[in-house]
Amino acid sequence: MRHTLLMFDVDLTLVDAAGAGQLAMLAAGAKVCGEGFSFEGVSFGGRLDPLIFADAVASTGHTTDAAVSLHDTFRAAYTQELRRLITDNGHRVTALPGITTLIDHLRDRARGQDDVMLGLLTGNYAETAQLKIEAAGLKRDWFTLGCFGDEADSRPGLTELAMQRYTQLTDTPADPDRVVIIGDTPHDIHCAKAHGCTAFAVATGRVTTDELREAGADFVVDDLSDPAPLLDLIRA
Ligand SMILES: [Mg+2]
Repeated sequence: MRHTLLMFDVDLTLVDAAGAGQLAMLAAGAKVCGEGFSFEGVSFGGRLDPLIFADAVASTGHTTDAAVSLHDTFRAAYTQELRRLITDNGHRVTALPGITTLIDHLRDRARGQDDVMLGLLTGNYAETAQLKIEAAGLKRDWFTLGCFGDEADSRPGLTELAMQRYTQLTDTPADPDRVVIIGDTPHDIHCAKAHGCTAFAVATGRVTTDELREAGADFVVDDLSDPAPLLDLIRA
């Protein structure tokens, strides 16, 4: 494996969508499941979007079958609502501290030294991840690999998928020792550790540095405005 593979979470790691995702999901859920739809008691941070929807459907009193049969309609409605909020209504989505500079640097390095590869590993759907990051000035195609919320049953499954895709793309086996998962929640940490990868945690979300350390992160930073601790992990 000649690259260090850096897999970035989206929400509160790369960007802050200021609640746009939840607002759009709520509107889409009400449209698809009726007015009683709610996310009360459903946990969001670091989870896969199809599972968040399934929990909300269950807590609204629908059957598991309903969650399955309504999912594709929900996904389309959610994407439409999110696009309306972000693109049409100008809901503010911002890159978190240091991200723009860091990603610029990593893209240069990927083009020049070719010792690093960037990817997205997120609970978002591909299309909503793209809407969010592009609203913050990043581009989907800057991230060579993409592993999204509907592509595995669990977040650790996405880590496995990332390594499989790396192997397919480069024709070299992925070495967990050179895969770094960057995220803001214990879910991001667990999905790295489950496969022997490095868990690099950023406290730019709702989880404190102490909680991220307790969850087993290998590295914890307040944010990426000083990129050195992450860049130090890239090696030949
Ligand atoms: Mg996150």
